[in-house]
Amino acid sequence: MEKIVSLSKRRGYVFQSSEVYGGLNGCWDYGPLGVELLRNIKEQWWQTMTSREDIEGIDASILMHPRVWEASGHVANFTDPMVDCKECKARFRADQIEDAMCGNPAYKGRKASKCQHEGKFTEARQFNLMFKTFIGPTEDNASVVYLRPETAQGIYVNFLNVQAASRQKLPFGIAQIGKAFRNEINTKNFLFRTREFEQMEMQFFVKPGTDEEWFRYWKAERLAWFIGLGIDKDKLQYHQHEPDKLAHYAKDAFDIEYLFPFGWGEIEGIHNRTDFDLSRHEEFSGKSMKYFDEEAKERYTPYIIETSAGASRSFMAFLVNAYREEEAPTADGKTETRVVLGLHAKLAPIKAAVFPLVNRDGMPELARNILQGLRPHLRVFYDDSGAVGRRYRRQDEAGTPYCITVDSQTLQDNTVTVRERDSMQQTRVGADALPEYLRKKINAA
Ligand code: ATP
Repeated sequence: MEKIVSLSKRRGYVFQSSEVYGGLNGCWDYGPLGVELLRNIKEQWWQTMTSREDIEGIDASILMHPRVWEASGHVANFTDPMVDCKECKARFRADQIEDAMCGNPAYKGRKASKCQHEGKFTEARQFNLMFKTFIGPTEDNASVVYLRPETAQGIYVNFLNVQAASRQKLPFGIAQIGKAFRNEINTKNFLFRTREFEQMEMQFFVKPGTDEEWFRYWKAERLAWFIGLGIDKDKLQYHQHEPDKLAHYAKDAFDIEYLFPFGWGEIEGIHNRTDFDLSRHEEFSGKSMKYFDEEAKERYTPYIIETSAGASRSFMAFLVNAYREEEAPTADGKTETRVVLGLHAKLAPIKAAVFPLVNRDGMPELARNILQGLRPHLRVFYDDSGAVGRRYRRQDEAGTPYCITVDSQTLQDNTVTVRERDSMQQTRVGADALPEYLRKKINAA
C-alpha cells in the first residue's frame, strides 16, 4: 500500500486534501492523472448502464428534504458503535476493534485489541454517520439538513417522475453517479474508507416475484464488469450477508470483494431491497409510490434490486490491481526493475505518449504534428526529456499503454514506432494511420 500511495502522489494520481495545512482526515484530492482515471471509470460504468434501453440516468441533489432520511431509516439506524480507549484516548468502531491499531505512539504498529487497552474501552455508544448542516440563515433544529450518505434515495423519490417522463415499463432501472458523505469513525486504508466519496448506483425496479431472478442477473453482470476492465478474476469474490447480518431493508445481499493488500474489502454491494424504500416513502410523504402495470392492469409497489459501487473504492481496486514491478531489459543489455501500472487501456488516463528520439533534425516538429493530430481523438502526452528508455519507464509507471517514437526513419517514410506498455513490443505504423490504429487497439483491449 505504501508504494501505491507514494506512486499516486509522485505521478499525480491522488494527493492528501489540504496537504499544506497538514491534511484533512478521510478526504483526498485527485490529481491530473487521478481525475482522468476516475472519470474513465465513471464513464465506463455510465456507458454500460445507460446504453441499455431499460436504464435511465438521473442526477439528484445532494441536499434533500430531511424527511427522506427519516423514511429511509438513516436517522434512526445509520449508526456505528463507537468506543473510546481510556488509556490512549483513541476512538474505534467497536465492531472493527480486532483490526484497529493502537493510537498510542509508544505502541505503534500494535493491534489495539492486543495491547494494554484490554479492558480499558468505554461502553459502546451509537454514533450517527450522517453529516448535518443547516439550510437557510437560522441554525436551529427546524433547518437541519443532511449531506446524503448514499445516492440511492435521490433515485427512489424520483421513481415515478422518471417513469412518467421516460415512459419506461417495469422492469427498468435508474442510474446515478454522485458524491456521498459519511462521518466515518475511523477512516483508513487510503481511499478505501473516506468521509467524502463517490458512488455509482443503479436501482432496478421489478415486479415482485421476479426479484430473485433479477438479483441473480445483476450479481453476475456486476462481477463481469470488473473483470472486463482488467481486474484479476482470482482477486474478486462474492460475500453473501448472513441472514442475521442483513440490513433492515434487505431480503438478500452480496458484496463484490476485492483482495486488497490489507485483505478482502467490499467494492460493490448488490441488494434485494424489496419494496421497503418505496413503501416507506409512500408512508412518510403520503404520496403513492405505486406503479400501474398497464398489461396486467394492476397497481403494485415494485421491488428494487440495487447495485451500489463506490467509484473511489473501485478506483483504488483498479490502481492496486494494475500495480506491478518486474524485471525488464535495458538498452545496454542489463536488466532493471520497472514499475508498471497495467491499467486497462480504456481506463488509462493518458492513452499515448509521443517522443522525438532526439531533439534535432526536425524530429521535435514532426512529433508535435503527430501529437496535434492525435489530440482530438485521444488524451496524449509529449515528452522530449532524457533517454527514450527513461521516458518509457515514466509512462509505464503512469499507466500509458502506448508510446510513439519519431526517429530518423520517420523523416524518410513517415512511419513511427508504437511501443506497447505490457509486452514492450514495437511495431512500425504509418503516422497518418495512428488515430485509427490506436482507437482499434484500445477498443479491442
Ligand atoms: P462498509 O461496510 O465498508 O462501510 P457499506 O456496506 O456501508 O460499506 P454501502 O452502503 O453498501 O457500503 O455502499 C456501497 C458502496 O459505496 C461500497 O461498496 C463502497 O464501494 C462505497 N463506500 C461506502 N462507504 C464508503 C466510504 N466511507 N469510503 C469510500 N467508499 C465507500
